[in-house]
Amino acid sequence: MTRWESASSTHVGNVREANEDAVLVTPTMAVVADGMGGHAAGEVASALAVEAFPRLATTSHDLEGLTRAVVATNQVILDDAAENPSREGMGTTLVGVVHVDRADGVALALVNIGDSRCYRVRAGQIVQLTSDHSWAEEMVRAGRLTAEEATSHPRRHQLTRVLGMADGASPDVSWLAGEPGDVFVLCSDGLSNEVTDQEIAAVVTAAPTLEEASRELVARALDHGGRDNVSVVVVRLTSVDHVNVPPPDASPPEPPKNPSAPSVRRRPRVSLVSALFTAGFLALVVIAVVFLNWYGHDGYYVGVDQAGVVQIYQGHEGGFLWVQPQVYPLGGAPLLVTSLTSYQQEQVRNALPEASLAAAIAYYSQLQLSAHVDSSALTTNP
Ligand code: MN
Repeated sequence: MTRWESASSTHVGNVREANEDAVLVTPTMAVVADGMGGHAAGEVASALAVEAFPRLATTSHDLEGLTRAVVATNQVILDDAAENPSREGMGTTLVGVVHVDRADGVALALVNIGDSRCYRVRAGQIVQLTSDHSWAEEMVRAGRLTAEEATSHPRRHQLTRVLGMADGASPDVSWLAGEPGDVFVLCSDGLSNEVTDQEIAAVVTAAPTLEEASRELVARALDHGGRDNVSVVVVRLTSVDHVNVPPPDASPPEPPKNPSAPSVRRRPRVSLVSALFTAGFLALVVIAVVFLNWYGHDGYYVGVDQAGVVQIYQGHEGGFLWVQPQVYPLGGAPLLVTSLTSYQQEQVRNALPEASLAAAIAYYSQLQLSAHVDSSALTTNP
């Protein structure tokens, strides 16, 4: 007999308002789904997936049957969205480990679509069994991004395959070899984005029970930020049938989709558009403020301050918006406006803009040279 023991845990996380993940674990199925879509639609999508897929998959006896079950689950989600327009565009990931009845016993199969993951922990060593169906991961598989670049790529959370897409579902489905004692960890990206593979392996290996392992994994994700919903299912094989299954299909991996092709995003489209609009608007405001501030400080003129001293000012006469003209520090004895000819006084009081600081200084020097020293004025204006 192929048997396992299991435990699961799910948490809304530290940031999100609702838990859009769903988990299901039975003696023959372990499933995690991570839903997406606004107005509670993500919760509906993941709930539909963990309800429909196990029901549709129980009659499967091969990988083709499991693929059909995923395709039918996709249709369940599309039908629900068609009946409830507020849920249009909802989607969900699905990762599952499934018992499959064969003529010679029960085999295990792995099903995946999206970026939820399945790991196997055996003797303290962890292996990721699923590939993420994200744009960045597809680029890594195609050799166009390094694994390191993918971890920080802005499109790393953009999914290329997910349930709820109108053009159909194409899951990865494979047989899964297991030994007694193997632990399979199924999780949403709320775990894998916060907790490293090595930490997952250490927690699973050290935990005295599966319940504690699943609780501790969720607790680690929350400790490390908990920026998303976190869901974990852990199953440990207690006995395994030796079943003959067909060898893996040798067909080459699917080429990555055209990056410009439409793909499902982590957030509902409307909020992405409004986020982009808001970001664009804020950028325009910042550019406008920077420009106006620069303009306010731009230019020089020679004028007279309230004490009757001739000054060079930076800015615009009378100020511009919130920017008041600043006195350019010259040092030396103050040049009194009363020491100038009446023509010069009139010119200076007009505060005409100068082409540059050099022009302002040249004009000021010229005024200084021609000024007659009025000793009485100097003593009253130290
Ligand atoms: Mn998630």
